[in-house]
Amino acid sequence: MSITGATPSVNPELSIVVPVFNEADNLEALIARLTPVLERIASSHEILFVDDGSSDETMHVLRKIHTSDRRCRAVSFSRNFGKEIAIAAGLDHARGRAIVIIDADLQHPPETIEAFVAKWREGYKNVYGTRIDRNADSPLRRMLTKRFYMIFEQFGETGLPDGAGDFRLLDRQAVEALKSMPERARFSKGLYAWIGFKSIGVPFEVAERHAGTSKFSYRKLTRFALDGLMSFSTLPLKVWTYVGMVVSAFSLLAAFYYIMQTIIRGIDVPGYASLIVSIMFFAGVQLLTLGIMGEYIGRIFAEVKRRPLYLVAERLEDETNIMPQDPTRPGARTHV
Ligand code: UDP
Ligand code: MG
Repeated sequence: MSITGATPSVNPELSIVVPVFNEADNLEALIARLTPVLERIASSHEILFVDDGSSDETMHVLRKIHTSDRRCRAVSFSRNFGKEIAIAAGLDHARGRAIVIIDADLQHPPETIEAFVAKWREGYKNVYGTRIDRNADSPLRRMLTKRFYMIFEQFGETGLPDGAGDFRLLDRQAVEALKSMPERARFSKGLYAWIGFKSIGVPFEVAERHAGTSKFSYRKLTRFALDGLMSFSTLPLKVWTYVGMVVSAFSLLAAFYYIMQTIIRGIDVPGYASLIVSIMFFAGVQLLTLGIMGEYIGRIFAEVKRRPLYLVAERLEDETNIMPQDPTRPGARTHV
């Protein structure tokens, strides 16, 4: 157990990664609850905050925390890149033999980490918290989330464990696996499931947010859901082949019907309504198809540009302890 204020060991046993976006009012409370748990269960630890371009007092508070406890470090982005990318940066910079990802708003009870670590010591490499209920979210959000998981289950290339989110412990081996995945559209929940390793769920009760409000608007969540589906399924692209086949089959039948009708009953002018309806229907289908192509092409564009995943504006850590970054990962090479 290291003493508060002492220089942290270079490779602590446990790293806690906390993505933070405008959470100044939650950080002190989080540290107060987290530190005793960590001191009890780990031989050494570090808490790594990833400031996702906060515009409030977050960095000010983090500086204070870093000064009083050197085991608390921070990486601050040049702007808001999103929680998924903040987590990726956390995994890049954390040094522990196991890494726990936790929200800053105390919705994830720090005490659960003890159960995570126990499972890790039993040999599990991917220990995920499963939410017991989602009462902390609005009913609409709960309903949409459930729908999303149902769709993902059906069409995604990996299953997602029920109720599993970002609150989890990852062994160093799992972390290295995640770091080797260079994709820019990062849907962590899918990535965690994709890497596999010996996994187990630990149930936990989602608490109310300590202070502030959720940083996810419905717009952000929709974007996130689309990212998730499109990075783990090509079905939206392929389904149009089948739709096309069915529509062609119908149009052949229709052609046959109209030919027969013309032969038997002669030319019949009415048919305006069915014409307009079918034109509108197929125009809609075509636009939708184009839109879906666009979504994928946009993602391909983002990948081929090979921009860094994030940009670091500031770091709070002891210079002597800076570890060399993995040069193969583009995001890891972008520190100022
Ligand atoms: N967060 C982040 N970047 C963002 C949005 C959120 O780093 O763009 C962090 C946020 O500070 C918190 C965690 O992600 O620590 C979960 O966010 P929030 O509580 O708003 O999400 P919810 O609990 O509603 O899913
Ligand atoms: Mg929250």
